[in-house]
Amino acid sequence: MEAYPKSHVKAAVILTCVVTLVALTLPAQENEALSKSPVSLDLIPVPAAEAMPLPNAEAESISAPTTQWREVTVQSGDSLALLFKRNGLSAADLQHILELSEPEKALKKILPGQTLGFQTTSSGQLMAVRYKKNALDTLLIQREGDKFRADWQFATPEILLAYASAEITRERPSLYHAGKGAGMSDNVIMKLANIFQWDISFALDLREGDRFSLMYEEIYVDGELVKEGDIVAANFQNMGRKHNAVRYTDITGRSDYYTPDGMSMRKAFIRDPVHFTHISSRFNPRRLHPIHKRVMPHRGIDYAAPQGTPVVASGHGKVSIRRQNDASGKYIVIQHGEQYTTKYLHLSAFAKGIKPGATVNQGQTIGYVGATGWATAPHLHYEFLVNGVHRNPKTVTLPKALPIATDEMQRFKNSISPVLAQLNAVSGSGFASRGSADSSTGGD
Ligand SMILES: [Zn+2]
Repeated sequence: MEAYPKSHVKAAVILTCVVTLVALTLPAQENEALSKSPVSLDLIPVPAAEAMPLPNAEAESISAPTTQWREVTVQSGDSLALLFKRNGLSAADLQHILELSEPEKALKKILPGQTLGFQTTSSGQLMAVRYKKNALDTLLIQREGDKFRADWQFATPEILLAYASAEITRERPSLYHAGKGAGMSDNVIMKLANIFQWDISFALDLREGDRFSLMYEEIYVDGELVKEGDIVAANFQNMGRKHNAVRYTDITGRSDYYTPDGMSMRKAFIRDPVHFTHISSRFNPRRLHPIHKRVMPHRGIDYAAPQGTPVVASGHGKVSIRRQNDASGKYIVIQHGEQYTTKYLHLSAFAKGIKPGATVNQGQTIGYVGATGWATAPHLHYEFLVNGVHRNPKTVTLPKALPIATDEMQRFKNSISPVLAQLNAVSGSGFASRGSADSSTGGD
């Protein structure tokens, strides 16, 4: 997990605008530190960070005159019995603790790297055990006479919205590098790529000057970042086109991403059948054929990627061909409904279960990048056909996923407009006017 500067938690809402303005005008390096300032959103309750009560503050003042907490890190191969023994604790106490059902269940699953706290008196008597299962949940086992009692303590997380923005530059030419430069974790970068995977080819179509902004949740406990939540809104300017997405939870409780107009971001085909993080370089489509030494008609898209990189189905469909020949090497053809066909060539291997007639889901691994057939280096040759004719998937009009239902549209607009207004405010450039905070127009 990324270590974020703790100080930025304290950066206040008031500062947001200032910080953003400054961030936009600073050179890249300072920008890294500043472009990700948390902003609070009134939609999300932000409870005061409650310090976890010291496990037995009261007990300490009444009974035991001097007790001491010792934190022990679980090592590989450790069991509770070993930990007790190594720390000079009584086997009888352990027995009593394990008689309680709750601790027994939880403590059976202790993992290397987790910590256990033992509180002992000066004479070595065990008073309490504290097991931090994760950042939010702690099991506290306290002595009561000869026995023990166990209670879970649940920390109240504080959810802040973080803001990040970056530009594709010569120095940071990929989504990954640009995201890293803006202080985003791998996790958030991947989530961003997932949101726009139907619209943008992160493998082939990023250009200098492309830019993106996003707001995402960060979950804090006691002022410490414990994990990132979801992206709540994002925009991506790619090759002159702006794509906007906002997260919405519908009346059935299902969350997904939509355009500000209420269209689902999901579409029949994702842009890249090879994940952009594996792409090594770009091919020249007008290249001389390496074997025939003349320009070959080239009706597909080439993705240069290391041997063995997973190749995924770009859309839901049925495998019609899985075969090998001299030119294409190992290849797969998938039929998507009546009209659409995709082809995947030069594979090193087929994925398990991929054979004619098999149904595949969008994003499912169907094979692995290779250099079989007429190929001098490992790459995927991908073809997209409409009614048997080769087409550029980027320019072909594809059926859209269902939009938000008409009777839910007002709820959708009410829910997203504050979020969009906020991203608008912090990203400066903002969304297109329609679909932003002005929710009165929706039908144009
Ligand atoms: Zn090719």
